[in-house]
Amino acid sequence: MMKTNYFIIRDSKRKFTKQEKFIQLVKQDGLCDCCGDYLLLENAIGGHILSWADGNKTDAKTNLVVLCYDCNSEQSDMPYDEFKNKYKDLI
Ligand SMILES: [Zn+2]
Repeated sequence: MMKTNYFIIRDSKRKFTKQEKFIQLVKQDGLCDCCGDYLLLENAIGGHILSWADGNKTDAKTNLVVLCYDCNSEQSDMPYDEFKNKYKDLI
C-alpha cells in the first residue's frame, strides 16, 4: 500500500505507563490476551490495538492490550485484531 501526500500525525506519547498496564492486566485476569499465558506485570508489554505508527493514540481506555513479549514482538505494527486472527490460525 502506498502512503503518499499526507502526513501521519503520531501521538507524542508512545508507551503505556506501568499503572495503565496493571489496570489492563487485571481486566485480562492476569493473562496475555493473545496466547493466554500467565503474565507478571514486569513481563507484561502494553500493545496498541491499532498501531501507534499509523497515527493511533496511546490511549489506555480504547487502544491498549497487554501481551507477553513473544506475542508483542510477533504483532509488530499489525492491527491487533488481524494479528490475533492470524495467531489463532497457527495453533
Ligand atoms: Zn502471549
